[in-house]
Order: sequence, then C-alpha cells, then structure tokens
Amino acid sequence: MTLLIQNGHVVDPLTKRDGQYDVLVEDDRIRKVAEHIDAEADRVIDADGCYVMPGLIDLHVHLRDPGLEYKETLATGGRAAVKGGVTTVCAMPNTKPVTDTKEKVQRVHERAKGEALTHVIQLGSVTKGQDGKQLADIRGMAEAGCRAISEDGKSVMNASLYREGMRIAKESGISVFAHCEDQTMVEQGVMNADANAKRLGLKGITNSVEDVIAARDILLAKETGVRLHLCHCSTADSVKMVRLAKEEGLPVTGEVCPHHFILSSDDIKEDNGRYKMNPPLRSREDVEALRRGLKDGVMDVIATDHAPHSQEEKDKSMAHAAFGIVGLETSAALTFTSLVKTGMLTMMDMAEKMSSNPARILGLEDRGSISEGKAADIMIFDPDKTYKIDKDTFASKGKNTPFDGYEVSGEVVCTIVDGRVVYGPVR
Ligand SMILES: [Zn+2]
Repeated sequence: MTLLIQNGHVVDPLTKRDGQYDVLVEDDRIRKVAEHIDAEADRVIDADGCYVMPGLIDLHVHLRDPGLEYKETLATGGRAAVKGGVTTVCAMPNTKPVTDTKEKVQRVHERAKGEALTHVIQLGSVTKGQDGKQLADIRGMAEAGCRAISEDGKSVMNASLYREGMRIAKESGISVFAHCEDQTMVEQGVMNADANAKRLGLKGITNSVEDVIAARDILLAKETGVRLHLCHCSTADSVKMVRLAKEEGLPVTGEVCPHHFILSSDDIKEDNGRYKMNPPLRSREDVEALRRGLKDGVMDVIATDHAPHSQEEKDKSMAHAAFGIVGLETSAALTFTSLVKTGMLTMMDMAEKMSSNPARILGLEDRGSISEGKAADIMIFDPDKTYKIDKDTFASKGKNTPFDGYEVSGEVVCTIVDGRVVYGPVR
C-alpha cells in the first residue's frame, strides 16, 4: 500500500525541512520526502495550503480504561486522539484497578492494537495501587514497554520510597513522569489561592503546593540520575527550577498544558466545574512565565492532561466537581492560535514540543519526524481554517472543557497512523 501526500508544507524537526515537499508512504514507513515525487501511489492526498507534520505525541492522557469506561475507553480516546492529530498517547496508570503490574501493561498494549486508532503507551504507577506504601513492579512494567512510571493524580509523598522507585526506573532504562503536588498542603483547595477564589468563596491551592515537590523531585533525580519529566507545570517557580536543573546538566524536562499557557485564574468569572483542574489555572504572571519558558526552550513539551469525566461529575460547583478537562481534540488548534499565530513559537517549535521532544523523552527513535525510514505517523493541519470550538462535536466521551465556544485557527484535516489514514481528510 502506497500513499502520496502532495503539495504540503513539511515541517520536520529532525532534518529541519521547512517548506513545500511531497511525502511518499509505503506500508507503515515514510519512504521518500522530496520537492517533487513522481510515483504511482494507491492513494494521493492533496495537502495544498496545509502543514504536513509528524503526528503529535501526547505524553499526558487519561484513557480511563480499564475500569472507568463511562468516562472514556481505548476506542473513544483513540478516536479523540486522531481527530486532534495525536498519533501516540501515553496513558496514565490511574485506572481502576491501578496499572501497577507487567500483565496489566501488556493487557492494555494488546487491546489497544485492536481497539484504539492511535498508538497507546501504557505508563505504570510508581506504587502498588497508587497507595504510596509499596513500590509497584517497575522492572516488569518496563519489560512490558511502559517507558515511564508515574503516580499522576498525586505525588509519592514518601521521598525515600520514591527515590528507590527512581533507582529502579533508572536501572530499567525508563523515565519518571512527576505530578508535583504536596498532598499535605492542598487543604481541600479547588482553585488558585488568590482574590478571585475569595470572591467566589472557594478554597485555594497555593503555588508552593506544586513548587516544593518540583524542587524535591529534581533533587531526587539529581541523586539517582533518573530521567525526570515534570508534568503540567503551572507556576513561574516550576519553570525557574527546570531552568536551573538544565543549567546543571540534569536529565530534567518540563511540560506545559494549553489551558495553563492560555487561561489564568482571572478567566474564572463564575463558580463552574469546567474550570476545575489540577494543577489549577494560575495567575497572569505564572501564565506569562510558562509562555516565556516555552519560547526560550526551557519547557520542552506541550501535553494535554486529557482528563475526561461525565457531565454529572463536572456540572457543579468547583467545590464538588471532579478535577480535569479534556484536551486531545483542541491542543493543536489552541497551541497554533495562542503561540504560533502570535509569533511566540514557530511551526517548527510546535512540531518539536508536540512530537519530536516527546518522542525523544520516550526513546521512540522512529517517531516524531517526517523523514525517510521513520514511522508513517503524520498530521496534516490547515492553518487557515478559523472556527469556534464546539464540545458537542468531540469524539471523546468527555465534553468538559473551558474552551467551548472559544475561537481558534487551525484544524487537523487528516491523521495517518502507521501509514493508515485513520482520520479525514476533511476539507
Ligand atoms: Zn497530574
């Protein structure tokens, strides 16, 4: 099976190609990239006016499967992913039961091949049942291809236990993805601790709840030598600490989510659960620091923290709603609109932060690039399409987003996974 993508603007972080090229796909591989390709292909896609980029790799996704299928499944999450141009997702292990053994990781990987349109990498938890008491089977899960462990949803509060987990992760050649939140300091907070929280009568979460654990985890990574990825950084001091860690040459990377680099706490005009996520929307100063961190390269990755919930779980006061918003179907357009159109990032930066840097962190050498011999995981993106985000069109079971009705530019028109067109072309 051959597929020829013609007339598109290729953006490739590996070869630095940034211009008009044709791309020839043969079976699951990219065979050739050249200014003009004359080939008899089984299928031809005209990408005129569109970017042809490596498929997005989202390091932070909650697929909720197994156990919480009313929120999302491998199938619905997979459809949402490819609609958003996402060809690989890292599925967080806070499933039900928690993904904490080799067999559970293997089971998701086997099922995903048949059920999900996107590649799924199942991450393993750090501790058994995420109870923070005993380490999970980290070696076994690494053998099953988890590529990283994460206690996401919370932090491992016992630093000694976490350090031991990091040592095993290092030995096993996998990363640690850290959700930084000091459980003892949350004090039932539901949004950023500021004047707006007071006005709404809601309990606040201070920046230090994140920052003290970010500092601790960087120091533990320094001691153990493990590759540490800080998930969903939301504060100016998190950015500062990632910068310091990099200056020391530590293998530390930082991630930012679109909601954190676009919205601030001041955008919460009313007490509505759709604004509730963890970490919360922060101050305008924090938002600016995150944007600068992305621009100057300190922050390596844009990921979604896609966290689907049922309508009942979200449609209530922030005091009682579940934490989390969906993101798979909006991240490309939000990033393009907020960072690329405004001139903060180039299209190449976007491809790096949403595809090639995540591929490098996961050790996926054949993904994250539109070049000869790489996996044919491709997103075709039309930058000129302008529209309003409509949650009712989402393929995800989750409709919980603060961006419903938000005007954006840029639409994913086609997604290709392993050489198969799994979404579109819609033009
Ligand atoms: Zn988290």
